[in-house]
Amino acid sequence: MEPRGTKRGAGKVEGAEPRNKPPRPAPSLPTEPALYSGPFPFYRRPSQLGCFSLDAQRQYHGDAQALRYYSPPAAGQGPNFDLREGYPDRYQPRDEEVREGLDHLLRWLLEHRGGLEGGPGWLAGAIVTWRGHLTKLLTTPYERQEGWQLAASRFQGTLYLSEVETPAARAQRLARPPLLRELMYMGYKFEQYMCADKPGGSPDPSGEVNTNVAFCSVLRSRLGSHPLLFSGEVDCTDPQAPSPQPPTCYVELKTSKEMHSPGQWRSFYRHKLLKWWAQSFLLGVPNVVAGFRNPEGFVCSLKTFPTMQMFEHVRNDRDGWNPSVCMNFCAAFLSFAQNTVVQDDPRLVHLFSWEPGGPVTVSVHRDTPHVFLPTWYVEAMTQELPSPPQDTVP
Ligand code: GDP
Repeated sequence: MEPRGTKRGAGKVEGAEPRNKPPRPAPSLPTEPALYSGPFPFYRRPSQLGCFSLDAQRQYHGDAQALRYYSPPAAGQGPNFDLREGYPDRYQPRDEEVREGLDHLLRWLLEHRGGLEGGPGWLAGAIVTWRGHLTKLLTTPYERQEGWQLAASRFQGTLYLSEVETPAARAQRLARPPLLRELMYMGYKFEQYMCADKPGGSPDPSGEVNTNVAFCSVLRSRLGSHPLLFSGEVDCTDPQAPSPQPPTCYVELKTSKEMHSPGQWRSFYRHKLLKWWAQSFLLGVPNVVAGFRNPEGFVCSLKTFPTMQMFEHVRNDRDGWNPSVCMNFCAAFLSFAQNTVVQDDPRLVHLFSWEPGGPVTVSVHRDTPHVFLPTWYVEAMTQELPSPPQDTVP
C-alpha cells in the first residue's frame, strides 16, 4: 500500500525546481480507511531486547526495579476498589511541562548499541520511537477528534520519530478540567490496587500514586519491510502467566465506565477497544484487564480482554475498526517518512502533521526549537564504539 507521491526524494520541500517542469505538489499521505483495507501486513512477533526503569524522581535506571507484579483479588472475592481514595493528597503527578522526547530510550540505546541482535548495520536500517507514537499511527484512519505531530530525523541511517505536542493538545492539557484530572488519577490508582512490588506479594493501596515511576520494555519488531526498535511503558508482569517470557507475561490495566446497555457496549467496542488493541498488540501484551467503575468511582467488576480476540467484537460491525487498515496505514506512513527524510542530519527535522479529516502533511525545519536528538547522544554515537580488550601478542 503506497499512495502516489511517496517515492524516495519526493519530500524535497525547499529548492528550485528544474525549468519547464510544473512545481511538484507538496507530498502528503491520505488517511481514509478504504485506502488501507487489504491483507494484514507482516508484523514480526515483538521480542524484548531489554528494559529500563524511571524512579519517583524520574531518574533513569538500566534495570527492572520499577516492574510490578499482577496481583488481582483472590477468586471468589470481588473487587471493591475506591479509585478516588488518596486524591489529591497522595498524588504526585509527573511534570508534563518537561519535554523528554526520546531521551530515556536513547540512553538505553547508547548503552546497548554494541550488543544489539540483528547484526552490525541492523540499527542503521531501523526506525526508533515510542510505542505510544506507533499507537497513534495505528488509530489514525479511525480518529475523529485529536490530531498529532511527529518530528523525524535521520542519523547514521536510523530514522527517529518523536511526538510533538500540538498547540491544541497543549491548550487542552493546560485547561484540563478538575474532574478529568481526578479521572487520570483513578486510572493509576487502579494499578496500585492490582499490583504488588514483589511476585506473590499483596498490593499496598496506602502509599502514594507517583506517575514519575515507570517500567519500560524495549522491543524489536518489523512491520512489512520496516525494522522497528521501540519502547513502551508496561503496567505489570503476571508471575502466573503461561509463559514467563516477556512480553507474553505482561498485563495492561485499564479502567472504564460500567456499562448497562447494548449501545454502551457497542460504543466501547468501536472506540475504546481500538485504542486498547493498538497499544497492546504493538508490544505483544496478550491481555488487557479492565476494571469497570461505577458513578461513585468504585471498581466492582473486572474483565479480561485477550488482545487477539478484541477484533471479534467489531468484525461484523459496519462502523467498527479493522486491524489490517490500522497496520497497513502505519506501514504506509513509515514508507512515506523513510522516503521523505532523505538527508542524514540530526539537526534537520521533518515535521509530519495530521488533523482529522485531512491528509498527513510535511514541513521542514532546522535547529531549535524542533531538533530532538540531544547533543550528548549525537556526540556519543559519533565516537567509535569502545572495543573489547584485544589479545596482545607478547
Ligand atoms: P503509551 O503507550 O501512550 O502509554 O506510551 P509509551 O508506553 O510509549 O510511553 C512512552 C514514554 O512516555 C514513557 O516514558 C511514559 O512514561 C511516557 N508517557 C506515557 N504517557 C504519557 C503522557 O500522557 N504524557 C507524557 N508526558 N509522557 C507519557
